[in-house]
Amino acid sequence: MNDTPPGPSPLAAGERSLSVAQARAAMRAALQPLPLAAETLPLAQAAGRVLAADLVSPIDVPAHDNSAMDGWAFDGAALRAGESLMLRVVGQALAGAAFGGRLGAGEAVRIMTGAVMPAGADTVLPLELGAAGDAGEVVVPPGAVRRGEHRRRRGEDLAQGQPALGAGRVLRPADLGLAASLGRTTLPLRRRLRVGLFSTGDEIVEPGQPLPAGGVYDSNRTTLAATMQRLGLEVLDLGLARDDPQALDALLARALREADAVVTSGGVSMGDADHTRDVLARHGEIAFWKVAMRPGRPFAFGPLRRPDGGRSWLFALPGNPVAALVTFLALVREPLLVLAGAQASPLPLLTVPAAEAIRKRPGRTEFQRGLLERDAAGGWCVRPFAQQGAGILRSMSQADALIVLEHERGSVAAGEPVAVWLFDGLV
Ligand code: AMP
Ligand code: MG
Repeated sequence: MNDTPPGPSPLAAGERSLSVAQARAAMRAALQPLPLAAETLPLAQAAGRVLAADLVSPIDVPAHDNSAMDGWAFDGAALRAGESLMLRVVGQALAGAAFGGRLGAGEAVRIMTGAVMPAGADTVLPLELGAAGDAGEVVVPPGAVRRGEHRRRRGEDLAQGQPALGAGRVLRPADLGLAASLGRTTLPLRRRLRVGLFSTGDEIVEPGQPLPAGGVYDSNRTTLAATMQRLGLEVLDLGLARDDPQALDALLARALREADAVVTSGGVSMGDADHTRDVLARHGEIAFWKVAMRPGRPFAFGPLRRPDGGRSWLFALPGNPVAALVTFLALVREPLLVLAGAQASPLPLLTVPAAEAIRKRPGRTEFQRGLLERDAAGGWCVRPFAQQGAGILRSMSQADALIVLEHERGSVAAGEPVAVWLFDGLV
């Protein structure tokens, strides 16, 4: 019998040091999609939402064999290697106005891109390659086309009965266009995950109010709310919690009644005050982690009990504005997408050369703010900001990308490839 006790789970209450990868893996292992009800909405309201069920194609796309070019449609069986072919033009096929008849031997139809291929034709001679004569004939020069060329086959894009989009897909503009191309006007969508969001700290002041000595305007709620909205999540703004147990308890209780998950920033993540830990312990089993990352580090995660007997999840971020957003992107983005039922793929990392040397010590993941630039060869490179302090939100606003320096990595020489997360996506 093996009596070596298993190591403590990262989720056990108490404080642990974890790498970014360990923290992500522990959360991934703990989380399942929540059973969020489906609702059917018009395509115009579906961008960024999570598809609730597979979308199966009710039709073949394209619905008919059609021409990929403007030109002449004919039967390619008549082509002979090294010989030209003379055809009699017997009609035309336009997009939306098919040629009704069937082609006989030696016949062709003038055809436009997208028009249905006439019966008896399987090949299109592009307009610029054919020589049309005065007597209604066209000559196919030797070697101009191969049999079957310039024809799109019925169902070649998508066959009837095939899944066009999978459940869990976070819908992008082209997905909505695809649904429209199948004749759909609505889609079944999962209800948005509702995330309760609040900030903590006695010094934190609501923007719009006068700023007292020692006060700091709350920027985290604004940054995090917008980030979550972009992820297709619904944000329940719970305001500010003073650093006192009753205030925190009241906000948590409301979050548990009204939201599916809770995101906080400030002191709570450290559990620095005992009262914070006591309040959290009353509502669930929260683990306090020191994550080996910069900026970041203090982070808390764990299940909370809802009054209806269900379960919610707490993600407590550090208070420093840059650390709050970086920690959200590195640790919380994917877990929230998992809870939302979205196919949560990790953010793609692109590799570009560093424009200058970067100091880094192994043993933690660093996320540095950077600007993309053109290098001498006309490619892209990334230059880290001189100031990387966790409180310097302006550099976060100016940055194009986060440079992700992996856990084991040491200092980077100028020109060495580094991984980046781009702030802007294409669509
Ligand atoms: P904490 O994690 O509570 O120790 O906060 C770390 C630093 O971040 C302190 O300087 C706080 O004033 C600042 N901070 C905390 N919460 C916010 C917030 N919501 N908006 C802006 N700054 C904050
Ligand atoms: Mg604080």
